[in-house]
Amino acid sequence: MTKETALESASAAALIDPAQGKEWLQRYSNAVLGVFGTPQRVLVRGAGCHVWDADGKQYLDLLGGIAVNALGHAHPFVTSVISSQLATLGHVSNFFTSPTQVALAEKLLSLSGAGEGSKVFFANSGTEAVEAAFKLARRNSAGGRKRILALAGGFHGRTMGALALTAKQAYREPFEPLPGGVEHLPFNDTAALEAALDESVAAVVLEPIQGEAGVRPLSIDYLRKARELTSEVGALLILDEVQTGVGRTGRWFAHQASGITPDAMTLAKGLGGGFPIGALVTFGSEVSSLLTPGQHGTTFGGNPVATAAALATLHALEAGSVLQNANDVGSYLRSKLAGVSGVSEVRGEGVLIGFDLDGDYAPDAVTEALTQGFIINAPTPHTLRLAPPLILTRTQAQSFLNALPAILETARNCGAAGNNAAGNNAAQTTEASE
Ligand SMILES: *Cc1c(COP(=O)(O)O)cnc(C)c1O
Repeated sequence: MTKETALESASAAALIDPAQGKEWLQRYSNAVLGVFGTPQRVLVRGAGCHVWDADGKQYLDLLGGIAVNALGHAHPFVTSVISSQLATLGHVSNFFTSPTQVALAEKLLSLSGAGEGSKVFFANSGTEAVEAAFKLARRNSAGGRKRILALAGGFHGRTMGALALTAKQAYREPFEPLPGGVEHLPFNDTAALEAALDESVAAVVLEPIQGEAGVRPLSIDYLRKARELTSEVGALLILDEVQTGVGRTGRWFAHQASGITPDAMTLAKGLGGGFPIGALVTFGSEVSSLLTPGQHGTTFGGNPVATAAALATLHALEAGSVLQNANDVGSYLRSKLAGVSGVSEVRGEGVLIGFDLDGDYAPDAVTEALTQGFIINAPTPHTLRLAPPLILTRTQAQSFLNALPAILETARNCGAAGNNAAGNNAAQTTEASE
């Protein structure tokens, strides 16, 4: 096919000069801004829990685009709903609304058990959902409240407001000064929270399970205490469920395990089943009226295609009892991982799983896993993370468990030989990927 016929073609392939994996990576480094390090592979196709690279090699995707591809790749129902919505009405503006936008807001309020007066704001990503939450916190300013509390290890995104909430110094320092007033408290420490909270605090921002820190769950006791104490002083409790939400932990939202109701919750990653969309849910009429007309906005947020993608994703998750599968296959994986030699601790809920190794060879394990046909991730030098599609089967999980001992063995020896991939390739850790 020639390029001249591209306007009649249904595929992007006709617009592209084809290449093999190595050549793509060379072209990548010449053309794409280098904030992500060197990509591990060039991926060209996906189906269910598998993806294929430009050289034809198949991988079991146990990372799911970092907790995004809840229904795997190229899910037929989601693909069909997105395509038909795009062919019907693709974009309007927020001078208008569309049925899919309204229906998705209603669906999210119903799944989150949000009471009368609760509302939804749509964004295009996790960091944008967090920006909206940050502005919401700033509006809780009666009596001069200015402080916002977040946690050590917390990750909330890369734009300036979200970065102010993110704890990691290496992400923050190059961009200071960041929006002020944010303090980071020690993780899961109720006494520290109690000591820091008073009427000068506008909001407390927490991940029910810290994903980027290596899948570290806050205790149910901490979440309940945070709810109790924030209510007492009039601070908002904002939960960042960008990674933990939309069924990933086997519940619609991770905080539902603790029985608490937050004042606001951010969502993104899994919400669109791979299509970019974020959301901020505000609970109750008081919180939902903090941001007034003109105080926030977005061009693309809540567009018909993204909201159709999310509606389709939620529908498919529900219709296929997929959360039950996430629970079952997740428990199976965690119980088996705990018995693997070299694995010192296993954490997480559903299919958000972190496990620690007995040494700093997690980046080498990622590299070796790729060689063996598995995509996993190392959020820290000694931690591996799995965030596979929620449709992962037990057989697929078992294939990874079968391969893991040899992967860890190779990685351990590779590190001992001083050939540590972490030093050579920033893309091997989450550091540069999110
Ligand atoms: C990934 C993530 C974000 C940022 O989402 P982006 O879509 O990458 O902007 C924010 N909060 C949490 C908890 C995340 O895991």
